[in-house]
Amino acid sequence: MITNQSFIEREDQVNAKNYEPVPAVITRGEGVWLWDVEGNRYLDMLSAYSAISHGYAHPRILKALVDQASRLAVCSRAMYHDKMAEFLEALCSLVGQDQALLMNSGAEAVETAIKAVRRFGYQEKGIAPDQAEIIVMEGNFHGRTLGLISFSTESDYKKDFGPFLPGFKVVPFGDINALKEAITPNTCAILTEPIQGEAGIIVPPSGWLKAVETLCRQNNVLLVVDEIQSGLGRTGKILACDHENVKPDVLILGKALGGGFLPVSAIACSRAIMDMFTPGSHGSTFGGNPLATAVGKAALDVLADENLAERSAEMGAYLMSKLKNLNSPLITEIRGKGLWIGIDIDPSKAVAHDLCLQLLHEGIIAKDTHDITIRLAPPLIITKDEIDWAMERIAKVFFRID
Ligand SMILES: *Cc1c(COP(=O)(O)O)cnc(C)c1O
Repeated sequence: MITNQSFIEREDQVNAKNYEPVPAVITRGEGVWLWDVEGNRYLDMLSAYSAISHGYAHPRILKALVDQASRLAVCSRAMYHDKMAEFLEALCSLVGQDQALLMNSGAEAVETAIKAVRRFGYQEKGIAPDQAEIIVMEGNFHGRTLGLISFSTESDYKKDFGPFLPGFKVVPFGDINALKEAITPNTCAILTEPIQGEAGIIVPPSGWLKAVETLCRQNNVLLVVDEIQSGLGRTGKILACDHENVKPDVLILGKALGGGFLPVSAIACSRAIMDMFTPGSHGSTFGGNPLATAVGKAALDVLADENLAERSAEMGAYLMSKLKNLNSPLITEIRGKGLWIGIDIDPSKAVAHDLCLQLLHEGIIAKDTHDITIRLAPPLIITKDEIDWAMERIAKVFFRID
């Protein structure tokens, strides 16, 4: 008999323990649904932290993938290919930037942004060699490379991985005065998420991001916004920055940019900043390969044609009102934007991780973060009926008396 347990036992022998997955071995996905090897069906309310914003196996993106894979999947950047321009044109026009540079993982794109703004600081702002500083936020998550964990404030991410990269200053998220005081003539950039995802869907005070933008303009500091998780419709607008009409100097995208099929990430910025990259100064073998660009283009087309950002706003408001009406004694706070919701659990009454296991048992995939928060971030294609289906099960778990 095929069981989840048998796969888990085999995998545990040969895989690193750097994750703590729920005990479901997934074998198929379609739309908002996943199936495990035992045939159990789950509604995915995690969507791989926005990587599955378009849902699993979106037919239009799948077709673009298969068509392109059978013609040309990968070729080196030592030559041009015919899919690059149309994807970058679509991406730049969508986010209102001049140029974009493609990478694969989100972490690589953040590293790319850091290189760009450091160079800009030296070459355009005249910062003395190796003195450039970037201000980052407490509770940030930008990826797992050594460069990026160097300025993480999460001890689990850093323990015994040092020595770390210098040149970063940490201030509290959402505190404009602390940010003001941290700026020096050596500050080349401020790097932030518009809403902190991994930290537990932490929404800063309204107007904060706009104030950060103003502060950057006044001090000749570049604003770098990591929208890898928040971008491409997740918060109910194309970019979370759009809620406050903020235009970052460097925008970072990833996750949903791959349409649920491939790792595709990018930075998008002005020509002046992108010109910091000269031949040989940066690169990635797979970054911007034909398959990735064809899939990325299809992902942007679907985002527009299916109004995924508007859907996220509408369905997010619906889900939020249903959750607020639950009035479960286990819940201390519910917050979020669009289809991106954090639910705080009273630790004296329940453990978030246990609730996620109970949700799994009911057919819902959700994930806890920082012990007390449950994140809900379903694919943006989720329907009202599917939310109702989920709410019945969520209500059951949140009112279960053990
Ligand atoms: C997931 C994430 C990253 C890292 O992306 P990877 O593709 O896992 O490297 C960076 N920033 C934010 C805000 C993220 O949510």
